[in-house]
Amino acid sequence: MHNCIFCKILTGEIPTLKVYEDTHAIAFLDVNPVSKGHTLVIPKTHYETLSLMPETEFLSYMATVHKVVKGLMKYTDGVNVLQNNGKDAGQLVPHVHFHIIPRRPGDGLKIGEWHVHHDPDLDKVQMVIKSLLKE
Ligand code: 5GP
Ligand code: ZN
Repeated sequence: MHNCIFCKILTGEIPTLKVYEDTHAIAFLDVNPVSKGHTLVIPKTHYETLSLMPETEFLSYMATVHKVVKGLMKYTDGVNVLQNNGKDAGQLVPHVHFHIIPRRPGDGLKIGEWHVHHDPDLDKVQMVIKSLLKE
C-alpha cells in the first residue's frame, strides 16, 4: 500500500466528492479548485507518472478521461485538460491524474499562457528526441 493521498481517496480513507467511477478509474472534485467544477481523474492502480503506466492500462484510463471531458463540456463550453509528470513539471501528488478544468468567458485563468522563443538547435533536439522514441 502506497502512502499516497490519492490511494487513500481510492480506499475511502480520505473522503472526497466523487463524480464518476468505473472499473479502472475514478473522477472527483479537486479540493482546491482553480475553477468551479475542477475535476481530477485518476487510475485505480498507483503509478507515479504516465511514463510508468503500461499502454493497455493507459488506454482504458484515457477512455475515462474522455468520458469526463465530454461530461464537463456540457457543464461549460470549454475545458482545459492538464497533466503533470514529475516535480519539475509541477506534479505535487505522485499518483497519475488529469486535471479537467472548466473555462468560462472572461474567467481570467492563466492556463497555457507561455512565452515562446526561437530555438537555434531545433535540428539537434529533433535528433535526440527521435532517437529516444526509438528505444
Ligand atoms: P498536481 O500539481 O500534482 O498536478 O495537482 C494535485 C492536485 O490535487 C491539486 O490541484 C490539489 O488541489 C489536489 N489535491 C491535493 N490533495 C487533495 C485531496 O486530498 N483531495 C482532493 N480532492 N484533491 C486534492
Ligand atoms: Zn497512489
